[in-house]
Amino acid sequence: MALYLSGCSQSIRLGDDDEIKADIEYLASDSLEGRETGTKGEQLAAQYIAFRMDEIGLLPSGDDESYFQTFSLMLPVNPHVPDGEKEELKGTNVVGLIDNKADHTVVIGAHYDHLGYGGRGSLHAGSQAIHNGADDNASGVAAMLQLAEILSDRHEKNNYLFIAFSGEEKGLLGSNYYTKNATVDLSTINYMFNMDMVGRLNQDKVLSINGVGTSPVWSTTLDKIQVDGLQFVTTESGFGPSDHTSFYKEDIPVLHFFTGQHEDYHKPTDDPEKINYEGVVSVVEVLHQIIETLNDLGKISFSKSDDSNTDIQRSFKVTLGVIPDYLFDGEGMRIDGVRDGRPAAVAGLDKGDVVVKMGEYEVTGMNAYMDCLERFSPGDQIIVVVLRDGARLEKEVIFD
Ligand SMILES: [Zn+2]
Repeated sequence: MALYLSGCSQSIRLGDDDEIKADIEYLASDSLEGRETGTKGEQLAAQYIAFRMDEIGLLPSGDDESYFQTFSLMLPVNPHVPDGEKEELKGTNVVGLIDNKADHTVVIGAHYDHLGYGGRGSLHAGSQAIHNGADDNASGVAAMLQLAEILSDRHEKNNYLFIAFSGEEKGLLGSNYYTKNATVDLSTINYMFNMDMVGRLNQDKVLSINGVGTSPVWSTTLDKIQVDGLQFVTTESGFGPSDHTSFYKEDIPVLHFFTGQHEDYHKPTDDPEKINYEGVVSVVEVLHQIIETLNDLGKISFSKSDDSNTDIQRSFKVTLGVIPDYLFDGEGMRIDGVRDGRPAAVAGLDKGDVVVKMGEYEVTGMNAYMDCLERFSPGDQIIVVVLRDGARLEKEVIFD
């Protein structure tokens, strides 16, 4: 996760947790050096995931009939000098499909990249060390592959698209790229499940499920799910610090599954021996049961969730309440989503607007935008200048 959660089915077979264990142990091994986007470790991980998808029988659904979808973007060498020298970052999503010739497709995603040797996202204070990311998010990838195996065994009424995203830790880059360059028609996507950090189910068996406000069917469906005594704690918003956000912004119902924060989060100690493997099997079964429950309902409807209580940028005294488009490389900060009830929405800012000035400060890019935010306090009233369809608009924003 980027810095900032039985019934009748007998489809989980004995030994599934061995497969999950093997996947996590490989992905979180030192030989992959923390799977940072743009490194050899990322590429090795991508190759492994593609090999597993092939083994399971998924159809390649990336670029050019391969499992891989590559993206590249220019990022500042020094994030604090946004207008300084830039370097190219290349990343690879790994994409496989179960094609049941159905009208709709369910997307199941998990990011596989992590922090490499540390860097900006790390919470580690000591010397450089490999951040293995067993929970974050080898666990989600292993769970996704397990679910693929279960769903490939039988005919279902949806197609299933499995995506291992890269670039998540650097700002949801892979999922953002995917939704803008999708290999299936976005309008046919039924719903999207994101597993990010599902390896630490605790003794109380509490599974956090975020995004239940994104479809009217989620709450009633979850009420019917019973798996191994798991309890669900839910939040409404489809916005969060992980890849489901990219799909929610496209008006697709989403759920994010998460077994909770822990002291090894974004540290070199997030290792395979701390994973609760049986817990991962239980999480997979939760997703499987939800999918079965919804199987006969066709395309479920989307609803906009109450996003007023979410804030990814917690380190600022104030926020606009928007999701920036991290892939935008023009001048300014392009808004990719607006949270209801937050200052930007109240001021009439909208998705697609490019913020170029806040108060007296020019906003030249993403980092200039963050620097600007640090200068304001709750209660401040400023003029924000945005470009919309070629026009330059001034909006009065009041920070709360
Ligand atoms: Zn993370």
